[in-house]
Amino acid sequence: MQRVTRTIDAPGSPAPFGVEGVIGVPDGAPVELEIRLESVMEGVLVTGTARASAKGECVRCLEPLELALEADFQEMFSYPDADDRGRIAEPADDAEDDEDRLFLEDGLFDLEPVLRDAVVLALPMQPVCQEDCQGLCSECGVRLTDDPDHHHDAVDIRWAALQGLADSIQDGEKDEMSGAEPSVDEKQEK
Ligand SMILES: [Zn+2]
Ligand SMILES: [Zn+2]
Repeated sequence: MQRVTRTIDAPGSPAPFGVEGVIGVPDGAPVELEIRLESVMEGVLVTGTARASAKGECVRCLEPLELALEADFQEMFSYPDADDRGRIAEPADDAEDDEDRLFLEDGLFDLEPVLRDAVVLALPMQPVCQEDCQGLCSECGVRLTDDPDHHHDAVDIRWAALQGLADSIQDGEKDEMSGAEPSVDEKQEK
């Protein structure tokens, strides 16, 4: 068994380590790897942990956030000729699994897709700056966590409309009362 510790730069292509536009390890940011290599019959079993700092923004208040990420991974890299033996031993029904199998090429393996999957799985789908983030005020966009007592007097636009209606009814009644009675008196006088 062999242990390897290495720091790599997070790749930005072909796909970033993360979910684009949500959260991920920035292109070129350091990713610390602790890898354990075990030689087994059919290839090399690679087990390890990746540590990196992911950046994104809070889904509720859109504040930038950064979180320490730890992703475990394990993958089997088979010798190319182990594939041939596998096909003979288990024909037909193993065909689909073969597409998912990873192989050693000239004694080397490509860990990048394995790391990408592990990192994406370890990332939160809905990152928040803090568990109890209150998000933004739906009316003015103020961050409510910064201003917990924040409120607006006309909280709901429907109430504001009712308030306007009530005012116009009152005005109308006043007009009738002040306008109608004198006009009746005038007619009677003529
Ligand atoms: Zn937030
Ligand atoms: Zn507000």
